[in-house]
Formats: sequence, C-alpha cells, structure tokens
Amino acid sequence: QSTINQIAAGEVVERPASVVKELLENAIDAGSTMISVEIEDGGLSLIRITDNGMGIDPGDIRIAFKRHTTSKIRTAVDLLSVSSLGFRGEALSSIAAVCQVELITKTAENLTGYRYKIEGGKETLFEEIGAPEGTTFIVKNIFFNTPARRKFLKTAQTEAGYVSDIVEKIALSHPEISISFKSNRQLKIHTAGNGNLKDVIYNVYGREITGNVIEINQENDFMKMTGYIGKAIISKGNRTFENYFINGRYIKSNILSKAIEAGYKFILMQHKYPFTVLNFEINPEYLDVNVHPSKMELRFRKGESIYPWVEECINNALIEKPNIIDV
Ligand code: ADP
Ligand code: MG
Repeated sequence: QSTINQIAAGEVVERPASVVKELLENAIDAGSTMISVEIEDGGLSLIRITDNGMGIDPGDIRIAFKRHTTSKIRTAVDLLSVSSLGFRGEALSSIAAVCQVELITKTAENLTGYRYKIEGGKETLFEEIGAPEGTTFIVKNIFFNTPARRKFLKTAQTEAGYVSDIVEKIALSHPEISISFKSNRQLKIHTAGNGNLKDVIYNVYGREITGNVIEINQENDFMKMTGYIGKAIISKGNRTFENYFINGRYIKSNILSKAIEAGYKFILMQHKYPFTVLNFEINPEYLDVNVHPSKMELRFRKGESIYPWVEECINNALIEKPNIIDV
C-alpha cells in the first residue's frame, strides 16, 4: 500500500515547486485573500504555506489526506468553467506519502484549531491547538523516504527558481489575492491583493518592464482577452515571459503561444520572445480538456478562429504603440 502511494505520489510530486503549486491552489480554493509562501533551501528542507481561508473541519482532516478524496467534485469540463483549481483529490495524499507534513488549521465554526502530523503516509499526531482562522501547511524533507527520487532534484538554488516561477504565475493570475514569497527568510514577492494586475506585474518584473506595457482589452462572441503585453525580451529559446491564463488557470497551449508570437512577428528577432500577461476567458463549450494523471491537455473546438483573432488583436495593439516596438 505504501509503495503504491509512493508511486502515485510521483505523478503529482516531482519537486518542491509541485508541492508549492498544489498547496497554493488549495489555499486559493479555500477562499483565501492572503497567502504566504516560505521556503528554506529551495524547499528541499522546508516549505511553509499559510492562508486565511476557510480551514479544514477536524472531522475532515484525515479524509483530506486519503487518496482520491476531494471536497470539490469536478468533471473535466467543469474544470475550466468554475473557480476551483483542485479536482483530483490526490495532492495531499501524494505529498504526505513522500514528505513530513504538519498541518495547523481552524475553521470559523470551531472554537479551537487542530494540529495534525503525517510522515511518509503515517499519522503521528492529532491534537487541539490554539490557531488563527485558516490553514498552515509545513512540509519538510521532500523524498526523505525515497532517496532514489531525491537524487533527481537539482541544487537548492535551482529548485528555489522553480518555486519562484510557480508563485509568480499564481500571483499574476490572482491579483485579488495578496501573496508573499520568502526564500531563506528573504522577501522576494509581495503583492497587494488589490485586484490591480499592473501592480502585480510591477511587483514580479519591476519598473522597466511595467513602464513599457500596453493594455489589452478585446472581446468577441466566444472569448475575451485582457491584460498587458510588452516588448519582446531576449530569453534563451523559451517562453518564460509569455504568461497567459485560461479561465483563471495557468495552462500551456501551443496554439495560443503560436498565435501570440504571430502577433509579434514583425518585431520578433532571434532569441526574442513576447512579454505577455494575458487572461483568456473562453466559453467552456469551446474547450476540450483531457486530464492525464500528471498534466492537462487543452484543445480548442474553434482553434482555427482563435488563432487569427489573437494574432490580429496583438498585432494591432503593437502597431498603435510603435514606441514599444522599436527597441
Ligand atoms: P483537491 O484539491 O483535488 O480537492 P487535495 O488533495 O489537494 O485535493 O485536497 C484535499 C482536500 O483538503 C480539499 O478538497 C479540501 O477540502 C481540503 N484542503 C486542502 N487544503 C486546504 C486549505 N488550504 N484550506 C481548506 N481546505 C483545504
Ligand atoms: Mg488540491
């Protein structure tokens, strides 16, 4: 049983960044308006995520750590139509199978909070404790019981970079939530949670990029595209600065990337890629979602019309602001 859980865990937990992603998504699903993420040694020794969300009822704590239990029952189609980010009920059980996990949580209805510890899938503590409303997860020593997996992890610095990428994407896709990120006690990101996307871009990317963005606000019968685009940036053959979200979710889509890049075609030079933070709201009827254990694949039923529309909107926006283009 424990081996099966460890194998299953491998599909969800690949590295500290995957733990952070799952716990952040849970905190968002819990209705939090403030979330803090702290890591030590790139998350290899410690990950701590605190939220001010709804908390977990004491009677539900053990259940939450069982495989395939979710309080958010979703079909693949719902997935892109509603707010909940979690859907498989696999994250907590997977994390607990390969890490040492401590949970402190309190709901509004309960007078006290609860502390729960589970290590390598084995419960080691369950007690009452004073706690503020919300939830804290402390995850220590990832892969402590699967040394072969631990060998595949990179240096603390590289792992910290992966964690930072995830926190950035999630902060950009949720300007209404105040998100802070500390790595080895140093504050790296702190967003206000005031709903202003440009403020978050400033926080994540700094003054130079933020001073050179164009606002996008376009709509047609079946989709809406809002956000900001900026100068093409030299980045080593990848799409690091192409951020986009589909119905609030951070998903990669080759057709969207290609359409965005096509919009930039007249200024794209070697090794330059667009800077974008774009939110796409698409009627779920036009989406096909394929959910694999480890990734989500997205196809558009109207792929042939999405591509030229996105390309043209971006192209027009760039032409209107030539000062952005010519560097
Ligand atoms: P899923 O997110 O797919 O439902 P998870 O394994 O990630 O599955 O989480 C299991 C359950 O634990 C969730 O459905 C939710 O009820 C509860 N939970 C997890 N994290 C939190 C949190 N930060 N605040 C409140 N409830 C949480
Ligand atoms: Mg989840």
